Amino acid sequence: MNNRLLRLVEALGQSALEGMLVSTPENRRYLSGFTGSAGYLLITKDRAILATDSRYTQQATDQAPDFRVIPAQSGWDWLIESLQKSGISRLGFESEHLTVAEHHRLLDSIKQEPSLTGISLVATSGIVDGLRVVKDPEELTLLQRAIDASDSAMDAVCPTLREGMTEREVAWRMEQAMRDFGADSVSFNTIVASGPNGAMPHHRPTDRAIGPGEPIVIDMGAKIGGYCSDITRTVVIGEADETFRKVYDIVLGAQLTAISIVRPDLTGGEGDSLARSVIQEAGYGDNFGHGLGHGVGLAVHEAPRVGPNSADKLTAGTVFTVEPGIYIPGWGGVRIEDIVLLEDFGARPLSKARK
Ligand code: ZN
Ligand code: ZN
Repeated sequence: MNNRLLRLVEALGQSALEGMLVSTPENRRYLSGFTGSAGYLLITKDRAILATDSRYTQQATDQAPDFRVIPAQSGWDWLIESLQKSGISRLGFESEHLTVAEHHRLLDSIKQEPSLTGISLVATSGIVDGLRVVKDPEELTLLQRAIDASDSAMDAVCPTLREGMTEREVAWRMEQAMRDFGADSVSFNTIVASGPNGAMPHHRPTDRAIGPGEPIVIDMGAKIGGYCSDITRTVVIGEADETFRKVYDIVLGAQLTAISIVRPDLTGGEGDSLARSVIQEAGYGDNFGHGLGHGVGLAVHEAPRVGPNSADKLTAGTVFTVEPGIYIPGWGGVRIEDIVLLEDFGARPLSKARK
């Protein structure tokens, strides 16, 4: 068993579980190395099974040497058979991912099998996700490559933006550039929000032509080897107005403050307040409606959550975004986002694009 599986078996013991059915794609990939788009893992203390369909049998065998790959058609027959052999009685499933319909069908299949009457299905949350919070060196290498691709795209494309370009054009230029710099794909749909559209943090790019002096919020990410980057810059074509200079300085100050003082063992809520207090003191507390950041890795949004009231611990080895923003209806917004790695003595920025 690989180190990730051993850590999972230990975590299962702590939750009084004897096995785990893994269905979340990122968790499946994290534990097995299998990158296909379909399949389940069944993990007990002495077994690691990867069930997938015939499209993926060869790939799964190559990518997941620690797993016994078994063919799975639609339905739960493979799991029923495996459970009969394993003799376990408490099986965890991922309640944030397995659908209600799949869960019903699984319960029905178990009920129809007299030898499995002793089995209970236990809803779990965050067990494998918890293992993914602290990144190992191999993950950090892939994350840095994804971050470098989006940084390079941002730095290359921003100086080429001109008055009259549409939000969609800017998004497309950024996406092309990320691919040119090595991205396998984008990690999420690029956000380009110009002028008043920037007041909506997750605006989708439109055919709106960008005017001079308007704030342009560009939020994008690359994916390499399964790992995601996430970066936001806010820029202006031509001369920035007084409001922009003022708001930008506050957001940048809040971001740099948080990055310079965040330490391991703060909660996500305490981390959030480091930047939020700066924005509140400047009088814009009501204009910062979202959390300060989020973990990033195989998923673009993962644990820990860095936002008001988050009890998630920011442990050393965690990678997360720091992305304060100020949004003013009718005018627009400013958001600045970088990814940091939390080390024993503080945060090390992994993003290096110009601000
Ligand atoms: Zn972002
Ligand atoms: Zn983000």
